[in-house]
Amino acid sequence: MLNCIVIGAGIAGLSSGIALHKAGHRPVIFEAYGAPSDGIGGFLTVAVNGFDALDTLGLKGAAAHLGFSTPLMSMYLGSNGKHLTDFDYGGTLPDGTTARTMTRSELYGMLREEASRRGIRIVYNKRLTTVEESHRGVRADFHDGTTEHGDMVVGADGLHSRVRKLIDPTSPAPRIIPLLNTGGIVPAGVLTPGLMDVESGRMKMLFGKRCFYCYMQDPEGRTWWFANPLQRSSEDPSTLDSTARKAWLTKLVAGDRTIMAAIVTATNDIIRPYTTSDFPSIPRWQRGRLVLVGDAAHAASPSSGQGASMAIEDAVTLGRSLQGLQPDSISGALARYENERKTRAEAVVEWGRRNAAPKIRGQFKRVFEDLVLPVVFRGIARKSEDNFEWVYGHHIEWDAANSGVS
Ligand SMILES: Cc1cc2nc3c(=O)[nH]c(=O)nc-3n(C[C@H](O)[C@H](O)[C@H](O)COP(=O)(O)OP(=O)(O)OC[C@H]3O[C@@H](n4cnc5c(N)ncnc54)[C@H](O)[C@@H]3O)c2cc1C
Repeated sequence: MLNCIVIGAGIAGLSSGIALHKAGHRPVIFEAYGAPSDGIGGFLTVAVNGFDALDTLGLKGAAAHLGFSTPLMSMYLGSNGKHLTDFDYGGTLPDGTTARTMTRSELYGMLREEASRRGIRIVYNKRLTTVEESHRGVRADFHDGTTEHGDMVVGADGLHSRVRKLIDPTSPAPRIIPLLNTGGIVPAGVLTPGLMDVESGRMKMLFGKRCFYCYMQDPEGRTWWFANPLQRSSEDPSTLDSTARKAWLTKLVAGDRTIMAAIVTATNDIIRPYTTSDFPSIPRWQRGRLVLVGDAAHAASPSSGQGASMAIEDAVTLGRSLQGLQPDSISGALARYENERKTRAEAVVEWGRRNAAPKIRGQFKRVFEDLVLPVVFRGIARKSEDNFEWVYGHHIEWDAANSGVS
């Protein structure tokens, strides 16, 4: 049994703790924040490949009750309401499971409860500073002067990972994508009856004149939305207070022939806009007894819709790679894990960057894009039927332990 020090109690850290426990090891999770992050964050979508990975951990049933089913997407031009194309969000698993949109907090809460049910300890207010490695194991040092000994360290510590720097001090910084991300949820009954123009479960995505945005309705009648305005060097909307944020966004969508301005006006708590980024490639995901999972290894643009799903896939592959292993085989198993995950993760990051590109271009050259986008999306729709299978159809076979088969 390996003593695994997991750094970070986000989606990747909790899933890794659960996968390592399933593999017969003893994980302890250390989180920099002083308390659980319940209620924090906006929403995300778990795609069917994420559900397939959750199934391996025995958690598909629990996750199938979170949020609501969002299997469909439709794209429109905001300027004139022209329909561009429809997509499946990854199709349906044989048991009927589809992609689901949920608050990050719901997914986090389910994973945390499961970790606790399995007796996995989560220690808060422990910010990792450094790791000393020897032939006998690792010693992790925390900001409060405490230390922890174990056999290995899993860096599930997100975009600005400390473990990544300890593995490779020359590893690159995240690449900024010049799109901001913001959003909100409007309670049922607040929007004018009959205003909503999309059925429950379909994401309506719009290339507006000055902003890309998406809204959808859940079965209870709540409206969930996000927006990706262009990040301009002349302004910093992250500093705006709630009222100013609403005014700024309303102005960005006001010229479109859509219902978005009404949705923004009806939202009480608009998420503070934040800069999005990704990593084209992290040269090293592991060294000796240290390894990366989740955003620490391969943050993708939110336009990939794969952040949480890929983090869960990493966790399953890591657990499977370490199943039944003794400490002297750790570094070989971690190299195999990196080998299995890296090509796929980098392809998803690149895919997310390509998905973000028309949102950026469109805001620079709106009139031109109104002519070009319908042609582009006709082409994408033709290709999507075969090509997206590599993203959504991914399955990791737990019992193929250490064989390199996934
Ligand atoms: C509070 C929060 C809200 C989010 N909200 C959204 C959202 O609304 N929509 C969306 O698409 N994505 C959101 N994300 C990101 C999304 O959860 C991730 O892209 C995806 O789930 C993969 O996450 P991760 O676990 O790899 O990284 P993260 O979710 O970033 O988790 C990393 C964890 O490591 C901890 N940590 C960092 N450094 C250290 C250290 N030195 N020592 C100990 N712990 C450390 C952090 O506090 C954090 O809890 C959010 C992330 C966080 C942390």
